[in-house]
Amino acid sequence: MKPAPFTYHRPETAQEAVELLAELEDAELLAGNQSLGIVMANRLATPDHLVDLGGVDELVGIDVTDDAVELGAMTTHRTIERSERLATTLPMLPAAAEQIAGPSVRNQGTIGGSIGEADPAGNYPAALLALEGTLTLRSVEGIRTVPVSDYFIAYMFTDLREGELIERVSVPTEPFPTDRTGMTFLELKRASQTFPTVSAATAVRVDDPSADEPVVEDARIALANASDVPLRVEDAESTVEGEPLSSELLTEVAATVTDAVDPEGEMHADREYKEEVAGEYAKRSLETSYERATTDQC
Ligand SMILES: Cc1cc2nc3c(=O)[nH]c(=O)nc-3n(C[C@H](O)[C@H](O)[C@H](O)COP(=O)(O)OP(=O)(O)OC[C@H]3O[C@@H](n4cnc5c(N)ncnc54)[C@H](O)[C@@H]3O)c2cc1C
Repeated sequence: MKPAPFTYHRPETAQEAVELLAELEDAELLAGNQSLGIVMANRLATPDHLVDLGGVDELVGIDVTDDAVELGAMTTHRTIERSERLATTLPMLPAAAEQIAGPSVRNQGTIGGSIGEADPAGNYPAALLALEGTLTLRSVEGIRTVPVSDYFIAYMFTDLREGELIERVSVPTEPFPTDRTGMTFLELKRASQTFPTVSAATAVRVDDPSADEPVVEDARIALANASDVPLRVEDAESTVEGEPLSSELLTEVAATVTDAVDPEGEMHADREYKEEVAGEYAKRSLETSYERATTDQC
């Protein structure tokens, strides 16, 4: 099937884009077109107008400041995957990017499109939740910032208001000194071109990597495709904080995560299986993050 007819618009600035959204009836933003194209081809979305962000250069790029990393909404998965600066400052993001589909999707798909789509199985939503990211949203009324933890409200339903676009994502780096932090994005999936069954995004900061038993100062655990929204499990985090990581604590983490998740069953993975995988993957991901924090890798 082909998409229903629409009028195409190509603004050159973010401000022009939001003015178009305010002025046009039934307009939809277009980013990398890796998801919207499929939805429109199946006529599950039939917008009258498409506002293509592909010409808005100000939305592209990664900026690393002293205490944060800022990613423009139109930055592609490929750019994030290959960013050497991210590989050292926030390695969870390149790890999340490189596990998305194949190269053709990663060359076109964008971080803003992924957050706009808000699929609970998406890689960045869980990663950004674990990293306590913040979104900058623009409309003709101005700019507002929303923590990622408040943005995902229900299944594919977000705090993005009519006429708003996601301009950029900001992630604080201050909690993650590279010499004593480890991060992991671990996912289970049946094939490279499918969304994962479950993913576990974790970060660990220890007090002293050279100690005999480094103590976990800060732990982050977030899951994708384990609930109707990306899910952070703070109870599991506090289980390991203030102690060296041990196999007993990891077992406790797995049990806490399995109890906390609320996944939808799928054709190849029923609810019970996904609950178990969520616990096991959270445990494995956290263990790897701890190893990375206590050795010379982030
Ligand atoms: C075969 C395949 C496998 C995939 N596997 C994975 C996977 O494993 N993990 C994963 O995370 N993703 C996966 N994806 C999704 C992929 O990451 C998409 O690229 C992404 O979800 C959408 O990004 P896009 O730039 O293509 O957005 P588009 O398809 O252009 O847009 C998607 C939605 O977001 C809205 N939008 C776009 N940009 C903005 C913005 N700046 N502000 C507000 N709203 C906006 C659009 O209006 C639209 O509703 C897969 C996709 C395919 C085709």
